[in-house]
Amino acid sequence: MSKRDYYEVLGVAKSASEDELKKAYRRLAMKYHPDRNPGNQDAEDKFKQASEAYEVLTDSQKRAIYDQYGHEGLQRGGGGGGFGGAGGFSDIFGDVFSDIFGGGRSSGPRRGADLRYMMDLTLEQAVFGSTESIRIPSWEDCADCHGHGTADGKKPGACPSCHGSGQIRVQQGFFVLQQACPQCRGRGTVVTDPCRSCRGAGKTRREKTLEVKIPPGVDTGDRIRLSGEGEPGERNAPAGDLYVQINVKPHEVFDRNGGDLHCTVPISIVTAALGGTLEVPTLEGKVQIDIPEGTQSGRQFRLRGRGVRQVRSPQSGDLYCNVIVETPIRLSKAQKELLRQLGETLDQPGAQHHPESSSWLGKAKRFFDDLTNG
Ligand SMILES: [Zn+2]
Ligand SMILES: [Zn+2]
Repeated sequence: MSKRDYYEVLGVAKSASEDELKKAYRRLAMKYHPDRNPGNQDAEDKFKQASEAYEVLTDSQKRAIYDQYGHEGLQRGGGGGGFGGAGGFSDIFGDVFSDIFGGGRSSGPRRGADLRYMMDLTLEQAVFGSTESIRIPSWEDCADCHGHGTADGKKPGACPSCHGSGQIRVQQGFFVLQQACPQCRGRGTVVTDPCRSCRGAGKTRREKTLEVKIPPGVDTGDRIRLSGEGEPGERNAPAGDLYVQINVKPHEVFDRNGGDLHCTVPISIVTAALGGTLEVPTLEGKVQIDIPEGTQSGRQFRLRGRGVRQVRSPQSGDLYCNVIVETPIRLSKAQKELLRQLGETLDQPGAQHHPESSSWLGKAKRFFDDLTNG
């Protein structure tokens, strides 16, 4: 199965900046979020593809590998990753460098793979910040073999190929190259009789609960890095990191665009015509706005500072309320009669009660005149 190009998935140019990637990802995440498309497998696939593309392209190391080697470069040796995680850069680099330089780089113990955790937040959680408990994999020394991976629980014996050094010398043309020993993969030791519980790995996988502090103002596409919470490294090498990737779920009332919030509020034709006050929702509760006399449908009211304060921004964005004038339905006979009477007074010659229609009629007339003259 061929994978789609990551840039194509996000709909950005190869030169896209981090900001452009984030914008593109946020747009797709909003569109294809499973909450917005329940039961839609196609949307879910697109959501996953976009998340994966974003994850890779915003990681400078992975992006460099992808630009040069494509999907294949990322798959090679990408061990680890219990968590849908795209495992081990060190693996990838090890392979790439050993191909080019014939070893040398692949000798040291490998750093643990990074893990990714997708965290769905409500808009309120994202805006006000929160502390979320997540369950993540963790590893501990196997109790049966004390972490040695051997059936008898004692330290494993030296590798017979490299006599414990982890390195072997290979003749290649005129050169003699040092390479990681293929039998012990550079460890210097081999487990001949592996522990039954951990199958020789020396570690057992458990789960642990981690409290993640979400700073106020995060948005879809933001990542929180928890250093050292990824997979453990080999032989005392550092553990990988855990990346918590934020995904803000669509909200019933508000659409978010960076620091700004947008909402649509219906008003009656009576309020629209006569003016009045209107209660509108904000994230901090209801507020009242004045609707002036003669308000047209689609008019936007801006409430300064009632939007969201983004993570790295000193001030809050604004809340935009779009009012739409609602046409009344299920009118009684008497109500219809009142409207008819009103309509007659509005249609009197010379009356200027309909600014939108007047300007539209003017445009339409000019259009017809142009047609007949041209
Ligand atoms: Zn064990
Ligand atoms: Zn060896």
